[in-house]
Amino acid sequence: MINRGVFSQFSWRISFTLRSLILLAWAMFNFHVVTADEARIVIEECSLFDSNQGRMIPRQTVVVRGDRIESVSASDSVRAIPHAAIRIDGRGKYLLPGLIDAHVHVIHVLDFAHVTADEILPLYLAAGVTSVRSAGDEIVAATLVSRYAETHAERCPRVFTCSPLIDADPPIHRDIGRAVTDPGQVPAILEDLLDWKVRTLKIYAGTQRDVGRAVIEEGHRRGMIVTAHLGRYSAQDAVADGIDCLEHIVSVSNYVIPEDMPRTPGFRGRIDFDNPVCRSLVKQLAERHVYVDPTLSVYRQMILLPDIPEVRDSPDNQRVPQRLRDFWPIYLRRAGCPQDDSLEERRREFAKLQELTGILHHAGIPILVGTDSPEPQVPPGYSMHTEMELLVGSGIPPASVLQAATLHNARVLQEESRLGTIAPEKLADLILLTHNPLENIRNTRSIEIVVRGGKICRPADLLKYVSP
Ligand SMILES: [Zn+2]
Repeated sequence: MINRGVFSQFSWRISFTLRSLILLAWAMFNFHVVTADEARIVIEECSLFDSNQGRMIPRQTVVVRGDRIESVSASDSVRAIPHAAIRIDGRGKYLLPGLIDAHVHVIHVLDFAHVTADEILPLYLAAGVTSVRSAGDEIVAATLVSRYAETHAERCPRVFTCSPLIDADPPIHRDIGRAVTDPGQVPAILEDLLDWKVRTLKIYAGTQRDVGRAVIEEGHRRGMIVTAHLGRYSAQDAVADGIDCLEHIVSVSNYVIPEDMPRTPGFRGRIDFDNPVCRSLVKQLAERHVYVDPTLSVYRQMILLPDIPEVRDSPDNQRVPQRLRDFWPIYLRRAGCPQDDSLEERRREFAKLQELTGILHHAGIPILVGTDSPEPQVPPGYSMHTEMELLVGSGIPPASVLQAATLHNARVLQEESRLGTIAPEKLADLILLTHNPLENIRNTRSIEIVVRGGKICRPADLLKYVSP
């Protein structure tokens, strides 16, 4: 016989268990519950830059586990944080995906200055640049640099390699160029580069159309991205042939001048972009969704305005190793920079390059953010912030510039599944700023911490690794 009291006690226990289960299910549905005791980094209550939408989302908490982002959620939905977690107070601060510099060299220029990449790579990370895209380097040395960066993740950005500069014979840059004179040579060269795990091919200024077209076709057949610094191969032809990306704004500006007009630099400072050649190329670039990487900083700081005090005496220059800084003026003279035109003419030309950059953005052409560091007076890492300022100065909103520096740059590396956004499963490459970059793009410099693959680094500590 069942005692009624025992039965009611039993049923109460069942209903209690049921209620607990329901409550737990409700909690799990409504909250992100952090339960495991594995060490994590938790960045609490920050504003988070959503690079897909190009906006700042307030009061977000990001949990990093290992080298990945584990969760991103509204701060008031996070219930429990494990004791072992490293907690970072993000109140009043701004969390962005790590910046990606789409155009650097890890061999070129450094080799002339007797500097190796390990001496300067910490500058990138200190400046919040967690990945760099080599834009043409000698492949054996570049591969070694990339491996060094992976084994020294606490002080180096990720280094993505690119082919040497595919050029005419002799190549313009003998240290990093490779002569390709016959389209028939292209498949074997690309197979070799694939074995080096290269996914970006770069066509250089001496390349003729037949070779360029073969590089694009054969590259695409192998799933590679093809970019170009154009010269003989025109932008119109390269875009028609399927190029993915153009390096430097001059790979556009040199091809928007009507045929019957002079192409001297001085003239480019006076060109009216509202001409049929320009309108047609802009339309073609937009329709084909070609990425353009303007690298305005190298045009301002090395090529057109290296002699103005704000460039020459920039405190950013002081951060690079002395041997590189000593070499910069030598290289400027060797490269014939600045050109002979008056300063006023050069300023006008630079303003035109910025104007064209703005036109491309507003036409829907995806912009990349690259610097061409360490060319003279284009300091690794810090020039990324200058580039973003110059892009905003071209009329591109700060949010779009930040989208370009993260999401677009990740896409062109074919790394969108791992980089460029703050989302679960992505690599934990992050920067935490103390000031809002959407209010003033210069605030991207207000870096408190950098997270690279789940490891916290502080700029002041990273700068200690840079050679004096
Ligand atoms: Zn370059």
